[in-house]
Amino acid sequence: MADKRDYYEVLDVEKSASQSDLKNAFRRLARKYHPDRSTEPDAEDRFKEIQEAYAVLSDDQKRSQYDRFGHDGPQGSPFGGSGGGFNINLDDILGGDFFSSFFGGGSSRRRTRRGSDILLRHSVDLKDVLNGSAQEVVLDLPEPCTSCEGTGAEGGDLQRCSSCSGQGQVRVRQQVGPFISEGIQPCDVCSGRGQVSDRPCVDCDGRGQELQSNTLRFHVPEGAESGTRMRMRGKGEPAPQGSGEPGDLFIELEVETHPWFERSGADLIMSLPLGYADLLLGTSVTLDHLDEKPLVIKVPAHSNSGDTIEVKKRGLPRQRSGGRGDVIVLLKLFMPSKISKGTRKTLDALRDELGPKDTLESILEDAQERRRS
Ligand SMILES: [Zn+2]
Ligand SMILES: [Zn+2]
Repeated sequence: MADKRDYYEVLDVEKSASQSDLKNAFRRLARKYHPDRSTEPDAEDRFKEIQEAYAVLSDDQKRSQYDRFGHDGPQGSPFGGSGGGFNINLDDILGGDFFSSFFGGGSSRRRTRRGSDILLRHSVDLKDVLNGSAQEVVLDLPEPCTSCEGTGAEGGDLQRCSSCSGQGQVRVRQQVGPFISEGIQPCDVCSGRGQVSDRPCVDCDGRGQELQSNTLRFHVPEGAESGTRMRMRGKGEPAPQGSGEPGDLFIELEVETHPWFERSGADLIMSLPLGYADLLLGTSVTLDHLDEKPLVIKVPAHSNSGDTIEVKKRGLPRQRSGGRGDVIVLLKLFMPSKISKGTRKTLDALRDELGPKDTLESILEDAQERRRS
C-alpha cells in the first residue's frame, strides 16, 4: 500500500504525542467513524485506518519501529496481513456506554419483570359519545395460571438458570472489525429471567398464563373521538413466571360512522334535500335526534341550495370548553327524477313567473353576487 497515510496524520496528533494524547484522539475519532453509528460515507475505511494507527502507535515497540522505518519496516508492515486482530479492548477505551448501544441499549438489558400491554379496540356510536355511556365488555383475558401460580413450572418449582447463573444476562464477545469487544446480552436460555423450569406446567404448557373470562366496565368520555385510549391498570398480560407487575389493558375507542351525520369536532354536519317550493316558501323539518329531543330545522323562505342553517348547541359535547357543538345543515335542492303530466302542465304555466325577468341581467347579477362573497 503505497498511498498509506501517516499514522500521526490519521490520528491528527503531533509526532511527540503522549499515550494519553493518542488515546484521546483515538476515542474522539472512533466515536465519529464507528461503522455502526457513523453516517460518514467512508466510515468503515476510516475506522479501520484509525484502529490500525492507534494499534501501532499505542505500542511503544511498534511505535519506535514505525518512527524509524515508516510503513516500509524491515519486516514489511509491522502488523502483518489482514487477518490479525489488534486486541484492543474498545470497551475499555470508549467506555461502557458506547458499547451498550450495540446490545440494544441499557434498558433492555434489565430483566423484564412486567407483563405485556394489551390493546382492545371497542366500537361506540355517536349516541355513546353524546351521553358518555357506560360500557360493559365480556372477554377472555390472560391471567396467571392457577396450577403453577404463573411460574410456568410444574408445581411452581423454578431452578436457577445454569447458563447465566441466575443473572439473566451473559457477557458476549463480539468481533467488531479487527477488535474483540465484550458486551452484555440477555440470556437466551431463560429469556433474561434468570430462572428456568425442568418440567413445564401441564395445564398452561409452561406459558404461566391461562385465559379467564373477564367483565370490563368502563365509561366512554363525553365527546370522545376515534382513537381515544383508556388505560386499565394491571389488566394486561401477567408478568413472566408470575413475579412482577402485570401489563396494562388499553381500550381504544372507534366511533362508528352515522347514516347522515358527519362529525367535525363537536359539530355535526348533515345535508338536507328539499324541493323547490320548500326552499322558496320556507318550511320546517323535524327529525329524530341523538339526544331523544327532536331536531327542528327551520328553513326560511327564499333559501338557496348550498345555504347552511346552524341549529345551535345540538351537536356533541365539547371536551375542553364544555357545552355542545352545533348541528350544521346544508340545504340541497332535490330534483325529482319523474313528474306527472299534470305537474308538468302546472310548472309550464308557472315557468315565466318562477324564472328571472331578464336572463342576461340575472346572469350579471349572479356573477356580481359571487364576486362580493
Ligand atoms: Zn401453569
Ligand atoms: Zn439464563
